[in-house]
Amino acid sequence: MPTYRRCTICGNKAVYFRVYSGTGLCSLCLCSSIVEKVKRTISKYDLLKHGDVIGVAVSGGKDSLSLLRILNDICRHHASKILAITIDEGISGYCKESMGICKNFTEELGIPHYTSSFKEIYGFSLDEAIELRGVKKISACSICGILRRRAIDIVANKLKVDVIATAHNLDDLLQTFTINLLNSDITKIRWFDPTIKPKDEFVIRRIRPLMEVYEKEVAMYAFLKGIPFQTASCPYMNEGMRSEIRSILNTLEAEHPGIKYSALNSAIKISQKIVIDEKGLKLCKTCKFPSSSELCSVCKTLEMLKGDMYI
Ligand SMILES: [Zn+2]
Ligand SMILES: [Zn+2]
Repeated sequence: MPTYRRCTICGNKAVYFRVYSGTGLCSLCLCSSIVEKVKRTISKYDLLKHGDVIGVAVSGGKDSLSLLRILNDICRHHASKILAITIDEGISGYCKESMGICKNFTEELGIPHYTSSFKEIYGFSLDEAIELRGVKKISACSICGILRRRAIDIVANKLKVDVIATAHNLDDLLQTFTINLLNSDITKIRWFDPTIKPKDEFVIRRIRPLMEVYEKEVAMYAFLKGIPFQTASCPYMNEGMRSEIRSILNTLEAEHPGIKYSALNSAIKISQKIVIDEKGLKLCKTCKFPSSSELCSVCKTLEMLKGDMYI
């Protein structure tokens, strides 16, 4: 690790060294460079329009609270309106703290906060879903991801937001891309394209304004801004291959600074080359949400879980 003392931009005391660009940064210059990067991402991919109502999915972690703060700062001068949406998945010893953090932080920023829960929407908490899963080989993260995405859609639809913003950072996206690649899940890779617009009017557009920001820089931003994020890890986080992929990508980045950024660019270019047969898109026969098969992934998951309830 090279030594650094002074911010390359302003000469003040540096708090962070950005290895891939060889720059030392003070706290002010680091935070403003992250905000500028988010602004560039928004304009490069045309993610927001003037006057959009933005529903920010907020979990209580460093990424989503930082995103809320950054979008609030950026959009203050625009006509865009921001709402925060939090889903209580029902993970004992974990969600209660995160719900409290989200409530306090949205109040501090003066942003309207809307909540719902797995229990309200599906009739069971994630903890109960894990019990129902039994010995089936589906990870808790897969169940949670599928159900949370739909839960956010349901709340966002009620609130009539124009766009849902999620806090996936560069590391999250690259891990997901690699998992999809290893699982041969081409359809999901198509959705990496930040410029993609849903064809169905009932599907709300999703944007990921932090997609070009490294996870550790989001963490630095949250820390330097004094954002009170949840530090406890989700008890289910080590299920699935994500932590293995995270560790491989971190090792590669340490040896080859900037490799994650170039890999993300490749992932986006690949996603833009994939052609999906849109004639194959239909409505799920059970819930009527758009789906590529007769039964959508949410209804498949619910059937799989509830199938055991009566045994
Ligand atoms: Zn500086
Ligand atoms: Zn369905």
